[in-house]
Amino acid sequence: MKIRNYKALFVQELLSLYDKGEAESFFYIILENKHNLKRIELALNIELEFSNAEIEIWNIIKEKLKLEIPIQYILGITSFFGLEFEVNENVLIPRPETEELVEFIIENSKIIIDNSNLKVLDIGTGSGCIAVSLAKNLLNSNVFAIDISQKVVEVAQKNAKLNEVKVTFIKTDILQIDDLSIFGLINPMPTTNNQEPTTKFDIIVSNPPYVRNLEKHEIKKNVLDYEPHLALFVDDTDALIFYRKICELAHKNLSQNGQLYFEINQYLGKETVDLMQKMNFKNIELKQDIYGNDRMICCRI
Ligand code: GLN
Repeated sequence: MKIRNYKALFVQELLSLYDKGEAESFFYIILENKHNLKRIELALNIELEFSNAEIEIWNIIKEKLKLEIPIQYILGITSFFGLEFEVNENVLIPRPETEELVEFIIENSKIIIDNSNLKVLDIGTGSGCIAVSLAKNLLNSNVFAIDISQKVVEVAQKNAKLNEVKVTFIKTDILQIDDLSIFGLINPMPTTNNQEPTTKFDIIVSNPPYVRNLEKHEIKKNVLDYEPHLALFVDDTDALIFYRKICELAHKNLSQNGQLYFEINQYLGKETVDLMQKMNFKNIELKQDIYGNDRMICCRI
């Protein structure tokens, strides 16, 4: 069958669930992913055909889209900050707002006078998108990352390999530890009162779970049904639990001129800033995403 004829059928069948633009964009994403063919190449070769075997594959993908499975999980791949990341249902699909956070960190790091050998830690790394993008863009940095789930750490490790960067991953539950000196880093800073030396990071970043159950009604079905709730939701009564814990840890493990970065719940900008003020952080900067929503925080100790 001619590809352009199949395209018309494919888009038509998805119209009950998606608008035309979205259905067409799925078509072109799959075309590029499965056949390495760009939209323009199809437009220039209108006689191109799919074999029966190829159509079978496309039909399977189409049925999955009808179940509203995110296209990124169906194909097992997505792009973030210009890089490719493998994803599966154990990890959150990297979001554009998180790309903005990475951009914010990289821009700020350019003005840190000595930005060689920065020690960077990403807490709750998921697919590894933040850790890997920072490792790729902050030259000579030494990047570490934590996640609570072994399955997730395995995905993140694959992504570091795929993007040819070195990131050290560790599986641990951030809520259960009192110190971040868990990587056995060399050159730890000695402490004053004969305690174990403490590892100091120059950048600590986290995009922890922050969606409250009371916001569930705003979340789309494809997110709610397929993305890991562990990575998304927090208890309504203690929505900032991860922020509080990471702030405590940052007081111990952030270097003197170090910076702490968070992606935040857009409805909790003021509450998150208040928490950080109460916890004695300085230079607290609340930043909006491209939609004007409170989305990022940067501060120092
Ligand atoms: N921004 C994500 C969403 O709205 C949530 C990410 C998170 O909880 N850390 O789906």
